[in-house]
Amino acid sequence: MGSTMTLSFITLTNRLRSDAAASYKRMRAQGLPAGITSAYRSAEAQQVLRNKYIAYLNGGPYANFALPPSQSNHVKGIAIDVPMGPEGWLKEHGAHNGWTEDANEHWHFNYNPNHDQVAIALAKAAEERRVAQVKVARIKKVLGLRGWYTSNRTNRETAQTLLGVPVDGVYGPKTQAAWAALEKAAK
Ligand SMILES: [Zn+2]
Repeated sequence: MGSTMTLSFITLTNRLRSDAAASYKRMRAQGLPAGITSAYRSAEAQQVLRNKYIAYLNGGPYANFALPPSQSNHVKGIAIDVPMGPEGWLKEHGAHNGWTEDANEHWHFNYNPNHDQVAIALAKAAEERRVAQVKVARIKKVLGLRGWYTSNRTNRETAQTLLGVPVDGVYGPKTQAAWAALEKAAK
């Protein structure tokens, strides 16, 4: 696992997989209180915790439950353990950001990008902007240097077709409004 995984810092000392980190930072901006007990762990660090847990099961000092490295979402960079303040916030606002509470550990939350409605909406907006940018560029290319004031009526009509307005070769109110809306969408 993980040779291609990109990690990003969410605090001075804690990292997550980059998509989970981006989500975490968005949630902080939404009001998630600061506080991380644990985030990404190396397989080696997870194994140390696993060994402590096994030792506890065999009569050693108390240790929190810890999965083997191969099964841990901490090793995958998509889990956080948090204190009570952030835990309460995540219970209320985590789900639509892609974070769900672990069934057995109430301080532990797992990230699933497919459930991150905020990231999905941002990606959709970015895609819509990209499509608008391509359309603007195509229309500008058709119109040439003088833009909609080109003397070439055929080019104006082609541009209107690309813009999706009635084709009359005139840069009238409908065309102007549609063009302004498209340029705004492309910003
Ligand atoms: Zn955990």
